[in-house]
Amino acid sequence: MRSLDPGAGAPDLAAENEALLEFLYVAPVGLMEISPDGEVSIMNPLAVQLLMPLAGAAAMTNLFTALEPFAPDLRFMATSFKDGRGTICENRRIHIGQADGADPRVLACTLIKVDEARIMAVLTDVSDQVAQERRLKQAESWFSLILSGVNDFALMSLDNNGRISSWNESGIRQTGHERKDVLGRTMNVFYFPDEAVQGRALQQVDLARRDGWHIDEGWRRRKDGSRYWCQSLVSALEEKGGDILGYSVVLRDVTEKRTSADEVRRLLTTDQLTGVLNRSRFFELAEAEIARWRRFQQPVSALMLDIDRFKSINDTYGHGGGDEVLRAVGRVLSGGLGSIGMVGRLGGEEFAILLPSIDPEGARSMAELLRSGVSTLRPTVGEEVVPVTISIGCAGLGGDVDTIDKLLKRADEALYEAKRAGRNRVAIRPLGRAA
Ligand code: GH3
Ligand code: MG
Ligand code: MG
Repeated sequence: MRSLDPGAGAPDLAAENEALLEFLYVAPVGLMEISPDGEVSIMNPLAVQLLMPLAGAAAMTNLFTALEPFAPDLRFMATSFKDGRGTICENRRIHIGQADGADPRVLACTLIKVDEARIMAVLTDVSDQVAQERRLKQAESWFSLILSGVNDFALMSLDNNGRISSWNESGIRQTGHERKDVLGRTMNVFYFPDEAVQGRALQQVDLARRDGWHIDEGWRRRKDGSRYWCQSLVSALEEKGGDILGYSVVLRDVTEKRTSADEVRRLLTTDQLTGVLNRSRFFELAEAEIARWRRFQQPVSALMLDIDRFKSINDTYGHGGGDEVLRAVGRVLSGGLGSIGMVGRLGGEEFAILLPSIDPEGARSMAELLRSGVSTLRPTVGEEVVPVTISIGCAGLGGDVDTIDKLLKRADEALYEAKRAGRNRVAIRPLGRAA
């Protein structure tokens, strides 16, 4: 082990090293010393404990390899850090999936470059804080909703079937809808058609019936077709006996706040290279869909996609060429899906797609469309046209498959089948039977 102070005399050096070892041993965080390309020279027991379940003993010799599936950009951040010393990243959150039913596991990773040869890595398990923060954020938006000026509220009431029974000036001002446009209709009238089809408005009422109140936030549609970012609070009006008389609803136009937050949010939630959702955002949204599925049991399907023979694309056209292909594939996937589903880059050249309200057969047709869309792509690198194909596996929620991890695992098994059967094809796993 190296000394912290090269000028120290030999006995001091030994004592100092011993003190350092002792500190490493008992430190309440995972500590590692690594080279700029991730090779581990020292790690304390807690770091072993945090990394072992992710990567197994084999990958523990290199931190970036161990974390590659979850944070593929770490290696690049470290190698491209040009200063002689300084903080490469601080408390970078790394989502590492979740144990069945539990809150997602999240590590925070700090990398500090000490000199040209050494980086200190600090790892902590922040899963509990993250779950707590999420609950706090919910409570916060609920309070801000109550406390901020009454002026920008639109108020209405719903009968016990969720149909609009009163509507006033504030609602007209906010949405452009007159009384005759909305009375007797459900809140679907404020949603864009693709979301209205999924029954989002009635789901909100259903949740308020169950929990007493429910808050939702999203783009809503004015009468003239324009959109605005709306926070809505639905609270159930209960009679003494516990019967639901109806609901009162507060709609709040918070477009301005939203628009300024949009850019920051885009940076935090999208993959820089391809513009699709990044891994952690994909899992966050997927979790919300799974929760909806648990309650409403409408079909939910997933696709796992992997570019065929990507290594040889990299080998032939260079890493830049490979990146260009990744961008082109990302565009086909986002464009082909539109608002039907969401696509995330899980790492490397692997993408996942979640398709709410679509059964596995529908998902297979969608997958077929995307596959043929990619196969007709002709991305160019310099003068050269690069042929590219993808393989896709489909699976659906149901039976034993009741978490996002199990769903993606099943789709991944189908993907493996598609690869084995020759690539550039779609394979599907039937519903229900877990592997
Ligand atoms: P298969 O058809 O079996 O999928 O073959 P493959 O060559 O695609 O095999 P695999 O999926 O294992 O290869 C993934 C390769 O993707 C390995 C890695 O070098 C490359 N890669 C991972 N991330 C990136 C990236 O961000 N950019 C580029 N250009 N290449 C990447
Ligand atoms: Mg791959
Ligand atoms: Mg591949």
